[in-house]
This record gives sequence, C-alpha cells and structure tokens, in this order.
Amino acid sequence: MNRIVIVGGGTSGWMSAAALARFLDLSRWQVTLIESDEIGTIGVGEATIPMVRNFNQALGIDEAEFMAATQASYKLGINFEGWGGFDQAYIHAFGLVGRGLGLLPFQHYWLRGRAEGLAGPLGDYVLNAAAAHAGRFAHVERAPDSPLPPMPYAYHLDATLYARYLRGYAEKGGVVRREGRIVEVQRHGESGDVAVLRLADGGELAGDLFVDCSGFRSLLLGEALGVGYEDWGQWLACDRAVAVPTARTDPLVPYTRSVAQRAGWRWRIPLQHRTGNGHVFCSNLMSEDEATRLLLDQVDGQVLAEPRVIRFRSGRRTRFWDRNVVAIGLASGFIEPLESTAIHLVQTAISRLLDFLPNGPVAAADRDGFNRLALFEIEKIRDFVILHYAANGRNGEPFWDHKRTMELPQPLAERIAMFRASGRIVREHDELFDVPGWVQVMIGQGIDPQGWHPLADQLSIEQLGGFLDTVKDAYARDAARMPSHADFIARYCPAGAPDA
Ligand SMILES: Cc1cc2nc3c(=O)[nH]c(=O)nc-3n(C[C@H](O)[C@H](O)[C@H](O)COP(=O)(O)OP(=O)(O)OC[C@H]3O[C@@H](n4cnc5c(N)ncnc54)[C@H](O)[C@@H]3O)c2cc1C
Repeated sequence: MNRIVIVGGGTSGWMSAAALARFLDLSRWQVTLIESDEIGTIGVGEATIPMVRNFNQALGIDEAEFMAATQASYKLGINFEGWGGFDQAYIHAFGLVGRGLGLLPFQHYWLRGRAEGLAGPLGDYVLNAAAAHAGRFAHVERAPDSPLPPMPYAYHLDATLYARYLRGYAEKGGVVRREGRIVEVQRHGESGDVAVLRLADGGELAGDLFVDCSGFRSLLLGEALGVGYEDWGQWLACDRAVAVPTARTDPLVPYTRSVAQRAGWRWRIPLQHRTGNGHVFCSNLMSEDEATRLLLDQVDGQVLAEPRVIRFRSGRRTRFWDRNVVAIGLASGFIEPLESTAIHLVQTAISRLLDFLPNGPVAAADRDGFNRLALFEIEKIRDFVILHYAANGRNGEPFWDHKRTMELPQPLAERIAMFRASGRIVREHDELFDVPGWVQVMIGQGIDPQGWHPLADQLSIEQLGGFLDTVKDAYARDAARMPSHADFIARYCPAGAPDA
C-alpha cells in the first residue's frame, strides 16, 4: 500500500496532491496525479471560507505570495441581497456576532435590546460586517487585553491560478504529474478493488489507493464502482449556473455578493484582475438563454469572455470511500455554491484521508468511520444552505413561494423551531457553521424569535443599552481605522497584470 493515484487535476486534485506532498514521505510513497488537458477542469470555485487559511498554513504557504499568484482578494463574508425580502439585505459575516456576556451568546441581549428599542441592525454588532460595509480590511488578531474579537477572513481567488499554484507546490514536493485521458478502469477480479487505469495513449497506471478527484463524472467511485447518488433537488432545486468574467470595477469590496433572482441567485466575486459573476438557477423554471440574458443585464464592467453554462445536481455519493477509492471534491458530491463550502469540503476530506490513511489493505471499519464523519459534515452544511431558501421573504414568486413552504429535513425544522421559540442555537459536535452563522442568516431572513434567554433580563435597561452601544461603537471605530481593501492589497500582495 504505497502507490497513491489521484485522478483529476482541478482544485481538489491539486489540493490533495499538495497535502500528500507535504505530509507523506515521498521516498516511501509514490503519489501520481493524472489529469486530462482535453477534458479540463470546471474552472469555477473562487470564493472560500476562513478555514482555507488553516490549509495554507499547514502547507507552509506564504499568504502574500499565494494571494499575488492567484489574483486573490479578501473576503469577510457574503452580502445577501433580496433574500429576506425584495429590498432587503444582510451580511453573513465571518467571526463573532457581538460578544458574549456572562453565560449567554450575544443574540439574547440583542433580541431583548431590539424589543426595548435599544438595538440597531444585527450587522452593526459584527466587526467583519462593519469592515465589509466600510470597504476596509486589515489583519486583526485578538490582542490579549482587548475586548475586540479577531477578524477572520477568507479569499476570493482565481480557480485556475489556484490549481496552477498548488501544482507547482506538489510537483516540487515529489508528486508526479501524468497527462492523459483515462478510457478504462480495470478492477481486481477477486477483491473488486480498482487496480489499473488505462489511458487513451495506450499507457497504464497501477495503484493501491485511488483518490477520485475527477469532478462531477466521478469516474472511479460513481462510474467504475457504481456507487449511487443521493439527489437533494427537493430542497436545493437550482441545477444550472451560467458564469461570466468581467473587468474589475472599483471599489474592490471585501465580500461576495449573492443577489436573489427570480428562479435562483447570482454571485459577484471581486478578484484583483477581474470580477467573477454567475447566475445559479433552476432549469425547470428558466431557460439557459434567459438566465444568461438576466446575468448579462446585471453585471458591471466589460464582459471578458463568452458566458459558460455548467450543469449540476446538489447531492452526494451514497458512500464517499468505497473499496480502495476515496472520492474528494465534486466526485463525492456537491452542495450548490451559495455558501462557498465546496473547497472547504475538499480540505476536510483530505484531512480525514490523512487521519484514516491505510497501513496495508483498507479496513472496512476505517472506511465506515470516514464515511460516517463525511456524511455528518455534508448534511449539516446542506441544511444551512437550505435555510436560506426556506426562510426567504420573496412573496409572490413561484420558485420562492415553493421554497418557503417545502418540507424541511427534520433536524433543520427542529433548529428553526427552537430559534423561533427561544432564540437558541445549539451547535452539534464540530459542524461547520457555528452559532453566529445560523443567527445571522435566521435574523437576516426574518425568522423572529418569540423570546430570549431569561438571564438577558438580569441587566438593567441602562446596562443593556450601554453594553450594546459599547460593542457597536467599538466595532465601527475599529473598522474606520483600517485601510481600504484595495489599498491593503496594493501594499501587501499586489498581483500585477495577469499572464496572457
Ligand atoms: C457553479 C459553481 C460555482 C462554484 N463556486 C464555488 C465557490 O465559490 N466556492 C467553492 O468552494 N466551491 C465552488 N464550487 C465548487 C468548486 O468549483 C469545486 O469544488 C472545485 O473546483 C473542485 O472541483 P474538482 O477538482 O472536484 O473537479 P474539476 O475541476 O471538474 O476537475 C476534474 C478533473 O478530473 C479530470 N478528469 C475527468 N475525467 C478524466 C478522465 N477520463 N481522464 C483523466 N482526467 C479526467 C479533469 O481533466 C480535471 O482535471 C462551485 C461549483 C460550481 C458548479
């Protein structure tokens, strides 16, 4: 068990290769990545969440160099426009909401403050939101004696440049790249494991463990091993995206925009050299032509390439690891890109693969453990994304009316009911989205709790007002002192003109 073959050279293939190069002793392990220039990669996937920084740090990647190489900008959160109502917007920002006091999370004080007429919009109490709205950015770590929280951030990056950057890292670390199109997957007669990949050029590639990063096609796990697909279309009905790049326009905002549309939503991702735009929509309700027109009508900046349609289905493989094949990335499943979680799922799958790396034939118990953890993780993220649709306030549009009334997965329905009743959110185990994320989306989209924790009543009205104002003023002041996002990038990690 020392030959690992990674199938696919998109973001997930090269992230996997880079991590294996970093953590395995490649004088003992042989890691080969095969990709097909003819097939290419999906070419989208440009917004991330803060945990991507852990991945980069684990690989020892220098941030400024990485940002320049990928034309990256900073992301403090996502501005959701038109989700809670036609003219309404809120930001789901990374980081803390307010700050806890005593035993309670902040939302309980805010809920009482709002009822007493003392509190402004929730975003006023979030440092990331204050900085995002002001168009500002700085690296803010928590000072030991400061009441201010750190300001977690992620990146907007060029997906093609990211894969290229990681390829350089992985090849330098000893991963061997092979170019070619796989035309046949041969399996061991007895065990049924994948044994050899046959290529269009007549070559062959044998391995012990296969990492399937072949994209939606799921060449090994789905096609060769026949592992099924659980479709989540009843909740996440969008199944197409049209993507188009435009020239950069200023100001360079430090957040992703997600703007609700008649049968879906559109994204705007600002990079240093261009802006990424896309329209995610439900093909039952809108044609590809109409979706493209709608997108082109709304983008700012000169259109730089032909719009491209991408088809997908939200859902997951019924197993993520089967026999000697572990699927990572789109080959393992996909939750539509509303909360930019796919690259994160790649990262956690890689870390799980390293945790469960076999030392000999793959043990069924290890495989089951991997699959159990992966399932918990992806279902929790799915529910968080469904929440955005379920709690929409776009009355009168058939797509959105249906989403508002659809039957929800039970754990999500229970979570919403608990929040409605008492303002409580309970994070389960190590699920990705924590209390601040759930609270911002629920409040932002109009789920109004009927009450709050009784301990929030222990403050006098004056104490409560003072507490809320202190937090709000401190964050506004802190944000105002930061440089503009564009200035920060120009000083710290300018990318220069893109290569032709
Ligand atoms: C519309 C849309 C928007 C998205 N936005 C985001 C986002 O903002 N944030 C985020 O985190 N994620 C996003 N994603 C997801 C993200 O794009 C993917 O998770 C990421 O790019 C990883 O893709 P991949 O590497 O798994 O697959 P791909 O990029 O499709 O790569 C597949 C690889 O397999 C190779 N291959 C396939 N078949 C063969 C064969 N027969 N022989 C040899 N090689 C083969 C291909 O050549 C390619 O190298 C988005 C996805 C979509 C659809």
